Amino acid sequence: MQNESVIRRRDLLALIGTIAGSSAMYHAMTSLGFASESAYKGPLKLAGDVKGASVLILGAGLAGMTAALELRKAGYKVQILEFNSRSGGRNWSIRGGDSFTELGGFKQTCQFEQGLYLNPGPWRIPYHHRALLDYCRRLNVTLEPFIQLNHNAYLHATRAFGGKPQRFRSIKADFQGGVAELLAKISQQGRLDEFVTKEDQEILLQALRDWGALDRDYKYNANLGSAEFRGYARDPGGGLMGDPLPSDPIPLQELLRSRMWRYLQSFARYDFQMTMFQPIGGMDMIGKAFAREVGDLIRYNSKVTQIQQNGSGVTVSYVDTASPSAVQQATADWCICTIPLPILSQLPVDVARR
Ligand SMILES: Cc1cc2nc3c(=O)[nH]c(=O)nc-3n(C[C@H](O)[C@H](O)[C@H](O)COP(=O)(O)OP(=O)(O)OC[C@H]3O[C@@H](n4cnc5c(N)ncnc54)[C@H](O)[C@@H]3O)c2cc1C
Repeated sequence: MQNESVIRRRDLLALIGTIAGSSAMYHAMTSLGFASESAYKGPLKLAGDVKGASVLILGAGLAGMTAALELRKAGYKVQILEFNSRSGGRNWSIRGGDSFTELGGFKQTCQFEQGLYLNPGPWRIPYHHRALLDYCRRLNVTLEPFIQLNHNAYLHATRAFGGKPQRFRSIKADFQGGVAELLAKISQQGRLDEFVTKEDQEILLQALRDWGALDRDYKYNANLGSAEFRGYARDPGGGLMGDPLPSDPIPLQELLRSRMWRYLQSFARYDFQMTMFQPIGGMDMIGKAFAREVGDLIRYNSKVTQIQQNGSGVTVSYVDTASPSAVQQATADWCICTIPLPILSQLPVDVARR
């Protein structure tokens, strides 16, 4: 971590960003198209001559605890200062009986039944968050698939369809069917000739029929073909009444005005593509697993108020929120700060180049 390992330090930061990161970094990278597949290739191997150097880590979220785990393994003397009385940061789950006092002082108590929980922060692990998945495996966090896309789920908007919820599958099939029928129509009228060759228009028509569940005349109608996607008025079954009945598509105009098409694409976004995972029992199983490894390094209820760095190291001022008294100070050779930027930007930080 000292002079000889600029690349290694950068690698570590990249790793931290990959498995947890700050949401600012995450969202900025996503919108810039940089949040691509993780380059993680297996457990980190930090090397170098530590010479008894110390590292002060600010924040016991996943980033801070990952850094602590790896740096202690590499031989550094590590301490973490954490504002909360628990670890995990945004990686958090709330269960029945838990209470939480909001920043304004309002206290809420969760009244869920046993076995139910809510993840107020992260809840989905994409398949390409390889580092996090690997840490889960190494720290014995059991995962289960996260069902991100459920065609049987309802979409609901108070101002659409008189407030009546609609099945995701019906909205999707009817939107695709309506758009496919329109496009087929203008293709057959020759209004695409300027843009698409005759041969390609033939292929396009085949594709539209498949994609939109159109009938032989390229119409989207109530029939067993469209029902296969949008759902039946009477499901296929057995016995005398076993034959299925098709359901009526929602007219395209109504569908467009409902604005429900907005929700069709969110499941296809790169970060949300299947397969996704979640820890069994709540997202905080990950934070708890990290805390089993590095909990002894964490000083809880320690609110960092100032960070100063000079040629000889870092001095961090903090107050004990459990029993506020005089400002205390912690020093180290190095500091890794994982305090989220909106908070960090309010703190006096004096960081000189070393
Ligand atoms: C609503 C929501 C949904 C999300 N959904 C997903 C998702 O589905 N999948 C996904 O991969 N990511 C998701 N994210 C992003 C993910 O939660 C974060 O990227 C990740 O948890 C950040 O970890 P971190 O350790 O960098 O920060 P944090 O978890 O924020 O940790 C920072 C720590 O610093 C502490 N701290 C703050 N101020 C001080 C101070 N002054 N002194 C001492 N300590 C301090 C905090 O208490 C906290 O423990 C979501 C985030 C949110 C908010």
